[in-house]
Amino acid sequence: MRGKDFLTTPYMMKKYNFNAGPCVLPRQAVEATIDAIRDFDGTGIGLLEISHRTPGWERVMAEVEALWRELLNIPDDYAVLFLGGGASTQFFEVPANLLRSKAAYLQTGVWAKKAIKEARAYGETVVVASSEDRNYSYVPKGFAIPADADYFHVTTNNTIYGTELHVDLDSPVPLVADMSSDIMSRPVDVRKYGLIYGGAQKNVGPAGVSFVVVRRDLLNSSGRALPTMVNYATHIGEKSTDNSMFNTPPVVAIFVMYQTLLWLKEQGGVEAMYEINKRKAATLYAEIDRNPMFVGTAAPEDRSIMNVCFVMAPGSEALEGEFMEFAKARGMVGIKGHRSVGGFRASIYNACPVEAVEALVQCMKDFETSKR
Ligand SMILES: *Cc1c(COP(=O)(O)O)cnc(C)c1O
Repeated sequence: MRGKDFLTTPYMMKKYNFNAGPCVLPRQAVEATIDAIRDFDGTGIGLLEISHRTPGWERVMAEVEALWRELLNIPDDYAVLFLGGGASTQFFEVPANLLRSKAAYLQTGVWAKKAIKEARAYGETVVVASSEDRNYSYVPKGFAIPADADYFHVTTNNTIYGTELHVDLDSPVPLVADMSSDIMSRPVDVRKYGLIYGGAQKNVGPAGVSFVVVRRDLLNSSGRALPTMVNYATHIGEKSTDNSMFNTPPVVAIFVMYQTLLWLKEQGGVEAMYEINKRKAATLYAEIDRNPMFVGTAAPEDRSIMNVCFVMAPGSEALEGEFMEFAKARGMVGIKGHRSVGGFRASIYNACPVEAVEALVQCMKDFETSKR
């Protein structure tokens, strides 16, 4: 197949993409990228082949940063960086840059645990609370954040377990957040955070680029000699056109992110998207709670609006494989739960249309009816 045909081919059954990441992207972002790969910005040269010093590319970089600032209301005293290595690289770059003597972490899942492991290599690392005792099915509350820590790290959305921190916490020390899987899904008060990071591939683009939003007074705050690439300050240019251009940026990933954010702005921005996300999540949770064949795994007050986890209800456990096949036959893709939770997980990120959620709900209803 050629050109755009593969996106619209009528021969394929309609697919509803619930993958946890990489995951569904806005169609228009994908199509604009395909066009740019053929011919970037009317230059006659494709996006895969341009120099990142092309003026048209410098304009894209500036616009991406401006979109981040506009959509999340990021103040000027924060730098916005686009880096390689995924969120997992930030697990060590955060302590390398910020940990002088002690760091505090909230342990809400394996991503948090991996971040904790990396921090330990840089200094004293305390876990203020953990929900490991109940397989991370809730978010701990009522913990005390040590006032002498250099920062307090949270994972705002626990992709694997479908739990989410629904508030921007008050913290006596700089709050650091892994927002890989809920960035831009809801408004955040950036001022409450010292640093926000994540991989783009869940809500703002494809794999290959990460974002770091860091308050400038935290740069070089660990007092540690750092490899050049690891130091966040390296990626802030003397001129704004040099931001995130210290080494060759992943232009295709950033371009898809650019188009994804343009789409998000067209939808009305983060506030409007939050309303849609809450409705999508409420629709799916309502069916999980209504349908006697299924049961949700996350504590109701901590349920994520991005990743919805559920299993077969007691008595119906043996039907798990059958429901999976049933759903697959109706075009549902990527609903298998993570192996550490089992059952099902529907990831309903920004770009997942309401129609997909409705199709999944109908599928669950039809399965119930088929078993009567
Ligand atoms: C996916 C994910 C990660 C890992 O991201 P990579 O970019 O693959 O390193 C980290 N944290 C959270 C919350 C995630 O969902």
